[in-house]
Amino acid sequence: MSFDTIITDGIVITAADSFEADVAIEADRVVALGRNLPRDSAKNIIDAKGKLILPGGIDVHTHLDMPFGGTTSADDFETGTRAAAFGGTTTLIDFAIQYKGQTLRTAFDTWMKKAESKACTDYSFHCIITDLPDAQLDEMPQLVREGVTSFKLFMAYPGVFMLDDASIFKALRSSAKTGALVCMHAENGGAIDVIVKQALAEGRTAPKYHALTRPTTAEAEATARAIALAEMAGAPIYIVHLSCNDALEKVREARDRGLPVFAETCPQYLYLSIDNFDAPGFEGAKYVFTPPLREKWHQEKLWNGLKNDHLQVVSTDHCPFCFKDQKELGKDDFTKIPNGGPGIEHRMSLIYSGGVAKKRFTVNRFVELTAATPAKLFGLYPRKGTIAVGSDADIVIFDPIREHTISAKTHHMRVDYSMFEGIRVTGMPEVVLSRGRVIVEKNEFLGRAGQGEFIKRSTQA
Ligand SMILES: [Zn+2]
Repeated sequence: MSFDTIITDGIVITAADSFEADVAIEADRVVALGRNLPRDSAKNIIDAKGKLILPGGIDVHTHLDMPFGGTTSADDFETGTRAAAFGGTTTLIDFAIQYKGQTLRTAFDTWMKKAESKACTDYSFHCIITDLPDAQLDEMPQLVREGVTSFKLFMAYPGVFMLDDASIFKALRSSAKTGALVCMHAENGGAIDVIVKQALAEGRTAPKYHALTRPTTAEAEATARAIALAEMAGAPIYIVHLSCNDALEKVREARDRGLPVFAETCPQYLYLSIDNFDAPGFEGAKYVFTPPLREKWHQEKLWNGLKNDHLQVVSTDHCPFCFKDQKELGKDDFTKIPNGGPGIEHRMSLIYSGGVAKKRFTVNRFVELTAATPAKLFGLYPRKGTIAVGSDADIVIFDPIREHTISAKTHHMRVDYSMFEGIRVTGMPEVVLSRGRVIVEKNEFLGRAGQGEFIKRSTQA
C-alpha cells in the first residue's frame, strides 16, 4: 500500500459520525480511513492532531463576476474561489444568467468562459431563467443532461429578473419530470416596487430605505406562493436566502405537511440586523442586499430553524461590491446601490462559531448544513459533502479553538470592506485540500487559477 498523502491523528467529522482516523489520499480521492495507516509509504504526511477533519465546504449560492446595476461584482472566479478556499469552502455553485431573449445555452456558455481558466476550486452552475418561451422550456431538460440540474427563478425585480407565475409553474412542471430542483428568490416584487416608488417620491433615499421598503410579509407571501406552485406541479422547491421568521413559518408548515420544501439562510441574516443601517453617513450601503436585513429578533428564530431542520443549508449569496465607486453609485438613491454583500470567505467560521462553539447544534449538524445537505440536494453527493472511501479529497483541517477577528484588512476577498468587520469567531481552517492537493496552508495560498473543474451534477430522479 502506498499513498500520496495521509492526514494523521485528527477527528473525522461527517454529517453522521465523529471518529478518530487517519485519512489516506491517492490522486484526487480518499482511498482509506483507519487507525494507524502505514505512514512510511506516504509521500506527504499532514499532522491533524487536535484538529477536526471536515469535508470541504460547499457554498451553493455565489455571484462571481456578475453584472448588476451598471457594474460587476468585485470578485471574479479566481479571487472568489481563492477567498472561498481560505475559508474552507472547496466547491461553489454560482449562477449562469439567461437574459431576456437569450437561450439557456448562451447563459451556460458565457459563465463557463468566466470560470474555466480562473477557478481555483471546483464549481458548478445553476441557470437563472428570466424569460421562458416554449423554446427555452424545451432547453431545460437538455441542460439537466449536461449537469446543470437546478434553475433559479425570481419573484422579485420586475422588468429585470422577475418571472410571472405561469412561467414559474411551467418551469416547476419541467423539473418535476427531470428531477431538477428549482431555487426561488421569494419576494413579492410587484408590491415592493409600489412601496419603493412611494418612498422615492417622498424623498426617502438613504440606504436604510432599501430595508424599510421590502417588508417581511412580501417575503412570506412569495414563499407561500412558491410552495403552492411547486405543490401543484408535484415538484420539490428550494427557497434561497430566507431572511425572516415570517417566511420560515411558511417553510416549516409545508415541511410538516410532508412536502419536499427546502430552504437556506445566510450568515448575514444570522449576525446582522436592520440596526446596521445606523452606521454613519452612507455606510449603510454596505448592508444593501436582498432580502434586506431584518429586526434582530429574527436571528434567533433562524438559528433555531437551522438546529431543528426547518432550514437545511447555509450559503452566502456572496455578491461583493466595493464601497468606493460601486456602492457609491447609489449615494442619492438607494435603488441605485448595487445589491449584494461579501461573505464567501467567512461562512464556515461564522456558522461553526455561532452554531457549534455557542452550543446551538452539534458539529455533525454543522457539516450537514455547510457540506452534506448542499451536496445531496444539488446532486454532488457522495462525491462531495462527506469523507468516505471514493469521495473527492476535498478536505478541511479545522482548528476548533483558534480565534480570529474578521476584518477587511486581513480578508482575501477583492472588496474594500467586510460586512462582519470586528466580529470575533472561534474555529478556523488551517489546511485546505481540493481533490487531494493542498491549496491553503498556514494562511498561504498554494493553489492556482484554472485548477478547479466544472462538476456535472446529477438529479434527484
Ligand atoms: Zn443571490
